[in-house]
Amino acid sequence: MSRIAYVNGRYLPRNEAEVPVEDRGYQFADGVYEVCEVRGGRPVDERRHMARLDRSLGELRIARPMSQAALAVVLRETIRRNRVRDGIVYVQVTRGVARRDFPFPSADTRPTLVVTARSSPVEQLEDVAAQGIAVVTVPDIRWKRVDIKSVSLLPNVLAKQAAREQGAREAWLVDTQGRVTEGASSNAWIVSRDGKLITHPIGQDILSGITRSVVIDAVKAQGIPFEERAFTVEEAYSAREAFITSASQTVLPVVTINGRPVGNGAPGLIATGLRRDYHRYAEISE
Ligand code: PMP
Repeated sequence: MSRIAYVNGRYLPRNEAEVPVEDRGYQFADGVYEVCEVRGGRPVDERRHMARLDRSLGELRIARPMSQAALAVVLRETIRRNRVRDGIVYVQVTRGVARRDFPFPSADTRPTLVVTARSSPVEQLEDVAAQGIAVVTVPDIRWKRVDIKSVSLLPNVLAKQAAREQGAREAWLVDTQGRVTEGASSNAWIVSRDGKLITHPIGQDILSGITRSVVIDAVKAQGIPFEERAFTVEEAYSAREAFITSASQTVLPVVTINGRPVGNGAPGLIATGLRRDYHRYAEISE
């Protein structure tokens, strides 16, 4: 199926969709992005994703490319033109095109907006979730503002590649004190021996995941004991369960960490339940 990308006001066949070489996204990774799940052709948790996009733009002082209402229309049109029922919609905004120079370009430089959408291999993902995934740990070598969802993802790329080379699906990033911050493209969670759900608190050292926030809503509604604090790799080894959250995969149980089985080495009950119930707590747009 031919795929369509939205680029600065035009819907183009993907292989004709281009941005200039002097786009600051290309030159400096000077841009931000969002990934929103699509279910039944509709964006999931759109309001929270758009609020985070707005925050990322604000933190970097990149102009909003268009109003929220106009962007909502572009998201839907891109989903529709790509005939996505279950998948993701991707939004990227960069500071725009200007002669290569580090400081911000003139204030009238238009930000670049790209929107794409694609279907997910839904059944394959369910198989992955039913089996559970392997994660490996790598040092967290990122900058100190990873709360901003910037397209500057080189440490994440290297971490994912390290995971893949070790037969794992995700890498968990570990700070200098041996604590897990988050995954290379997900938030990291454990269930402790005494049944408490634990995930790293929000701050400048992790991305405030939208899926994480919805899972917290679910956990609170279900009365599951929950604590926002950093956990160490050692603690994760002896956890009862572990899992990751992200918009493109919702909740995925983790069954090994650095090759060591978590709990009994099978997906845990809490992770499995949160995956099953996720969309009861998520907001699915019209
Ligand atoms: N942390 C990082 C580093 C990520 O890239 C992602 C995925 N975008 C997440 C966490 C999960 O965030 P969300 O639930 O909003 O997809």
